[in-house]
Amino acid sequence: MKLNINPRDGALSSPWQQQHDKITITANLTDKIFDCLIIGGGITGLTTALQLQLAGKQTAIAEAHTIGFGTTGGTSAHINTFADTTYSEAESAFGEEGARLFAAAINEGAELIKTNTEKFKINCDYELKAGYLYAENEDEVKQLDDIYNGAVKVNVPVDYATEVPTPVTFQKALVFEGQAQFHPIKYLEGLKEAYLNAGGTIYEHTLIENINTENGTHEAHFGENIFRAKAIVYATHLPPNINVFNFECAPYRSYVLGVKLKSGKYPDALLYDCQEPYHYVRSHEIDGEQLLIIGGLDHKTGHEDPEKAFAGLEKYTRKYYNVSSVKYRWSSQYYVPVDGLPYIGQMPMAADGIYCATGYNGNGMMLGSVAGKILADLISGKGSRYEKLFSPGRVKPVDSFNEFVKENADVAYHFIADRFKIKETDSLKRLSPGTGKLVEVDGKKIAAYRDNDGVIHALNPICTHAACIVGWNSEEKSWDCPCHGARYDIDGNVLTGPATKKLQTITDDES
Ligand SMILES: Cc1cc2nc3c(=O)[nH]c(=O)nc-3n(C[C@H](O)[C@H](O)[C@H](O)COP(=O)(O)OP(=O)(O)OC[C@H]3O[C@@H](n4cnc5c(N)ncnc54)[C@H](O)[C@@H]3O)c2cc1C
Repeated sequence: MKLNINPRDGALSSPWQQQHDKITITANLTDKIFDCLIIGGGITGLTTALQLQLAGKQTAIAEAHTIGFGTTGGTSAHINTFADTTYSEAESAFGEEGARLFAAAINEGAELIKTNTEKFKINCDYELKAGYLYAENEDEVKQLDDIYNGAVKVNVPVDYATEVPTPVTFQKALVFEGQAQFHPIKYLEGLKEAYLNAGGTIYEHTLIENINTENGTHEAHFGENIFRAKAIVYATHLPPNINVFNFECAPYRSYVLGVKLKSGKYPDALLYDCQEPYHYVRSHEIDGEQLLIIGGLDHKTGHEDPEKAFAGLEKYTRKYYNVSSVKYRWSSQYYVPVDGLPYIGQMPMAADGIYCATGYNGNGMMLGSVAGKILADLISGKGSRYEKLFSPGRVKPVDSFNEFVKENADVAYHFIADRFKIKETDSLKRLSPGTGKLVEVDGKKIAAYRDNDGVIHALNPICTHAACIVGWNSEEKSWDCPCHGARYDIDGNVLTGPATKKLQTITDDES
């Protein structure tokens, strides 16, 4: 059996990247007008494409890199019936009916993963587990009671638990039965196979730069090439280029370790604390090898030191578990929506028939799956009961989400401050191999990386998306934008949208 390494959007490796039996894709560009072009090959893109193809539509997927390159390749793959936006929060912003529908969507997404796994016989380590959420102090106990009451009100099964399989001392805990976990890339490979068998087409290494619409047909541009389609779905996690989501979704980095324990006693449950930022723990057996998957310590992209976040996560892990070795460490990106719910449906300020799905918070396994169903229903003209609640064009009741509102002020600050106030004046000479830094050379700001052969890779640090200044991510070896989360590799190539153009390379003559 051949072992493939699935690439993802960072230098560090997740355990999901060691992939057996990967199907190689070769599709030629064609003049055909597709019923739908799906841009992005993560869980949202694959689920949407498969649903549409099975409904008899002729579809294609255009993926900038390879299937699973984005956050789906760097997720921690919990399948839950509760979400980061609690049902109480959803109720206070969207009313009781809104909270009920949100719970139904989360549940439908979780169920769709199970159904697909069974229907297409996807061997993706799918396992049902109990999920425990615990409080360690009085404030957290209040939060926990609020989560309990909110869940009960929308009929999500939940109970108080006296025993939790965690070494952490807790005051009160909840148990959600019927949660699950899986291997995200094995699942994507299964969806991909089902999709290709149903007659779908996949174009990898195809970054769509922009779309224009002529007489009701959408034209998606990839270099000199054009894809034509009657409908388009942005399944790119965040829609690319400048759009309303730059002000409605805040990018966050999140950290994960894959750890081997000395004791061999791995928890047979999904565990979450209520700290801010929080921690979660689960275990996963991959090809006969047990791993403790432990993650959290999220922060806004480009705003804190990733090295510190990993150090904090490792310290926490060693405090509670008998660690034999840290086998994997990786980070990835997600988007926090300004009013707490995802945006799924017709893209605002775009031609009719251009759809998007974004703002999943840390719940994209369920929300990306249900988005596939919702979008396929909308495109097929069936309508969806979630259409209004998740409408990307909705007017937001943001008052109860002060925390989120702050995100915009932050972006505005970086638009201005980054451009006029860089204090970094290190010389290139002091840049050690394997590191990157913003430096000033002859009065010009440069994003410089010195590789292990001593060669400098110099880039213009102005993000091509909205002209903020990128910062160095020492762990994933990428240039990350603190405004909207665009990310670039050491040669300036786009790793993560919303940018679609690479950072400008600076040659010796220019610097
Ligand atoms: C560390 C971490 C842990 C998480 N854990 C969980 C969890 O346990 N449970 C859960 O439910 N959720 C979790 N999430 C959230 C979840 O992983 C994401 O919401 C989900 O993977 C998003 O899937 P997606 O398909 O929408 O986007 P992605 O997987 O990011 O896919 C988007 C794809 O679009 C491509 N693309 C982008 N721009 C273009 C373009 N212009 N042209 C062509 N292609 C393009 C990208 O290359 C990428 O492959 C976690 C997130 C993080 C960061």
